[in-house]
Amino acid sequence: MSIVATAESVRTKQTRAVVVADETLAAIEARDGDIHAFLHLDAESIRAQARGIDSQIDAGQHPGRLAGVPVAIKDNLCQRGVPTTCASKILEGWKPPYDATVITRLREAGAVLVGKTNLDEFAMGSSTENSAFGATKNPVDPSRVPGGSSGGSAAAVGADMVPVSLGSDTGGSIRQPAAFCGVVGLKPTYGTVSRYGLIAFASSLDQVGPFARSVDDAGVLFEVIAGHDPMDSTSLAISAPDVMTDIDGGVAGLRIGIIPELMDGSSDEVRARVVAAQDALREAGATLVSLPAPELLLGLAAYYLIAPAEASSNLARYDGVRYGNRVDGADVSAMMIATRTAGFGDEVKRRIMLGTYALSAGYYDAYYGQAQKVRTLIIETFHRIYQSCDLIVGATTPTTAFEFGSKTADPMSMYYSDIFTIPSNLAGHPAISVPFGTGEAGLPIGVQLLGPALSEPTLFRAAKFLETEVGR
Ligand code: GLN
Repeated sequence: MSIVATAESVRTKQTRAVVVADETLAAIEARDGDIHAFLHLDAESIRAQARGIDSQIDAGQHPGRLAGVPVAIKDNLCQRGVPTTCASKILEGWKPPYDATVITRLREAGAVLVGKTNLDEFAMGSSTENSAFGATKNPVDPSRVPGGSSGGSAAAVGADMVPVSLGSDTGGSIRQPAAFCGVVGLKPTYGTVSRYGLIAFASSLDQVGPFARSVDDAGVLFEVIAGHDPMDSTSLAISAPDVMTDIDGGVAGLRIGIIPELMDGSSDEVRARVVAAQDALREAGATLVSLPAPELLLGLAAYYLIAPAEASSNLARYDGVRYGNRVDGADVSAMMIATRTAGFGDEVKRRIMLGTYALSAGYYDAYYGQAQKVRTLIIETFHRIYQSCDLIVGATTPTTAFEFGSKTADPMSMYYSDIFTIPSNLAGHPAISVPFGTGEAGLPIGVQLLGPALSEPTLFRAAKFLETEVGR
């Protein structure tokens, strides 16, 4: 059932929000022991929220577009009074005193907030193996990672525990786990969804977005959370883009770019599914154009300087004084060192060190400055590409979900899983991953659609089309 249908039957009392909540809790009870998608779940609060929705309906009020729809939340989004850890020991036990704007919007739409999902610590990673509280398993094959960093949110939807969830995407953290878990995932245009209450990793790249079982559900959730927010200085002064009105419009007449480099190094099975998607688009009346753009591959190196540089600054606030845990020391500086040594995991420390180095006097121009020039080059390259096409179709990730432990010893090989997703973050552009069949081992494969800023309506149209062609 779509989330629109669920909300409609809750509103018309064909079912009740409490019944939906109990079904959700039963599904989580049945599956999450194996999968570990959730870091925090409070059954009583879920039932209480649902009762609140039902009583609004009994009182003749309209609780909103998502009446009674369960939504899981990545644990780097602040929810008032609910533990928010970023999967880090340094924030263990911390409860935010306010709601993120996306949480407020979900509440106003009548959604039921189901719990906080697992991630790589501070959203740094591609597998959830960097969570301080244990990894999440891929619901399709528990020997495989769910992807990351929003692995818990992707797995919760992939395992049918919830119909939709929220994640965040700084370099691919929505699209890559969506591809690995066989669900839809959107990284919106930078500035369309408020970052207020999203715990910052790399502020110029971070963006909140939806996971869903279907393209329609992802579109509805995106419309609910998007739109201007005065609390976020980078929020665009526009209302939420309308992606639903024309979602069934098809792809006839669209010009779709194929960037050979956005398939570079992909496995044969991933490549085969992308080619199948291209054929489907062409047969449906889209014009496909090949547009080589080797510059886009430089994005990975630029990202792994810019993101750690911003992270090293953003994470300076975890000093044992203002938030979360403290380990005492003889003086303030010893306390801070002890707190940060005990509180952060290896990958977070690696990023802080990389970023601090890249920003340090004497190296700034060579590393951070150079990376920013590459970022501009990527933006200009996309500008050139979008003179000749409306959208790009490619792979979301080079491979299907990998096995636990297979990339942890070599950070570089882990970083490579982001090679196709990062360019959109650097440019601030939207991109969506749509499940498009499986590979030989039955593991899901995602096709990625990329577009220029604010092209979400076209992206959703093309994504919806691919969803109907998934069987080919
Ligand atoms: N995997 C990438 C990283 O480790 C992207 C993370 C993200 O998008 N939050 O930085």
